[in-house]
Amino acid sequence: MRVLVVEDDVSLGGVVQRGLSEDGHAVDLERTLAGARRACAINAYHLVVLDLGLPDGDGLTLCRELHESEHPPRVLVLTARDTTGDKVLGLDAGADDYLTKPFDFAELGARVRALLRRPENARAPLLKVADIELDPAAHTVRRSGVMVPLTAREFALLHFLMDRAGDVVTRTELLEAVWDANYDGLSNVVDVHVANVRRKLELPGKPAPIDTVRGVGYRFG
Ligand code: CA
Repeated sequence: MRVLVVEDDVSLGGVVQRGLSEDGHAVDLERTLAGARRACAINAYHLVVLDLGLPDGDGLTLCRELHESEHPPRVLVLTARDTTGDKVLGLDAGADDYLTKPFDFAELGARVRALLRRPENARAPLLKVADIELDPAAHTVRRSGVMVPLTAREFALLHFLMDRAGDVVTRTELLEAVWDANYDGLSNVVDVHVANVRRKLELPGKPAPIDTVRGVGYRFG
């Protein structure tokens, strides 16, 4: 899933970004309201983790704007304000959940999973191409009925490819969807992950149906 973290505390923002990214999400980080607005105008996020005390304004303003947008993302408010009145304000502004600082990352992770499992997101249909079946809600992949164990990142990659089965998907599209907008790691990270997914999907005499389109990217199916 694509997640935006809005947090002006640099080290906390980094911790949240890394943690959610290790859970297999593509996570962008913004430190201001203005930056968050720009990011939301460009990307369709499933979830926004939102700090309220931001240098250029109150996160609740963004929360209200998102709530009124055409495809509102889930919003998890993360804040030091911990009175009941504050929580009511946050929930009234359209927040789906509310976590006060300091918090355990394990709890944040669990709440994010719960939010992303809610029906609006879990309704995603089972994807089936030839003998490969991917269940977005259960997070499982089967080939010819046999479970294929994938890491969170490999699952997200295969999900994206299967969603677009038959189309050529570029490396840049994969990087943006499965990693994040500013990913600056190894340039061959996509190829390495595709190779791993292929290897795991292989059955004797049956290669994985992921074609390399030279100089462009990949095609599933
Ligand atoms: Ca803050």
